[in-house]
Amino acid sequence: MKIAVSGCLLGEKVRFDSGHKRDDFVMDELSRYAEYISFCPENMAFSNPRPSIRLVKNANESLKVESNKTGADLSAALHEASLLDLQNIASHELRGIIFKSKSPSCGLMSAKVYLENGFAEGKDDGVFAAMCRAKFPLLPMEEEGRLCDAWLRENFVMQLFAYDGFEKFKANADMKGLVAFHTANKFMLQSKDETLYRELGKIVGNHEQKSFTQIFGEYEFLFKTAIAKKSSKGKTRNVLEHMSGFVKSFLNAEEKAMLHEQIDDYAAQIIPLIVPLSTLKLYASKYGVNYLLEQTFLSPYPKELALRSSVKCVK
Ligand code: SF4
Repeated sequence: MKIAVSGCLLGEKVRFDSGHKRDDFVMDELSRYAEYISFCPENMAFSNPRPSIRLVKNANESLKVESNKTGADLSAALHEASLLDLQNIASHELRGIIFKSKSPSCGLMSAKVYLENGFAEGKDDGVFAAMCRAKFPLLPMEEEGRLCDAWLRENFVMQLFAYDGFEKFKANADMKGLVAFHTANKFMLQSKDETLYRELGKIVGNHEQKSFTQIFGEYEFLFKTAIAKKSSKGKTRNVLEHMSGFVKSFLNAEEKAMLHEQIDDYAAQIIPLIVPLSTLKLYASKYGVNYLLEQTFLSPYPKELALRSSVKCVK
């Protein structure tokens, strides 16, 4: 799958000081499953080395780009280069974008904004990140800084692969396929947003007898919106409990108790998610519970990424 990435994260020496910000997760792990499309609007506009720049809020509340060295207004040049980079990445079938955090070009709500008097005034999207957000409103996007958090990283990678799965399915989609797709994604969607999952179910139910083209468009929008939501420990616990309901009739009292203890220990952040999931998978496989085995939530991305082996969680 193709992912657009800030060039400096790929180890390219494109920063203002001719350095880079190579990111180990991007380069050593995710790269095994992705083809990267590099961008760097600042390097395209100003080459390197170059004076650093910053975002400045005018009296009329609009943002401009200023040279930290001379105070010159560089907005037009950066805007033009950003448009060219945008055009380039848009020519690929992207599955996501990874931005360098805190940059006045690439930061995703993390670029510092200054007032004309020099005081800092909150944070905003960098110039290029804002253009990407407008151009690709449903595309998975994240900053490398946030990907250091194990839970956010897992959420983002799950979103990338779910998005990719949808695009692959879309190529030959029909009504029967949509029902099967929705069924296979049930627990993944519930782990993201129960309400949106139910809304998606209503779309697939199609009680208003809409055309397939219409319901497919509605489904796509809501599916991509749902997978962009962050999961939580509570939502994931509910999903695990729900899944255990599909195997419990096959288990003896001791096995049931062990499974529930694992789910409790996961919720208490004593053991990682991979433990109760592996147990559920084992029982589903042993007792032929195909409904569970076909759930994308059991294997949402290549297991080698080992993103469910951390006990850290944001909520
Ligand atoms: S943060 Fe963006 S603009 Fe800055 S060096 Fe990296 S890719 Fe280029």
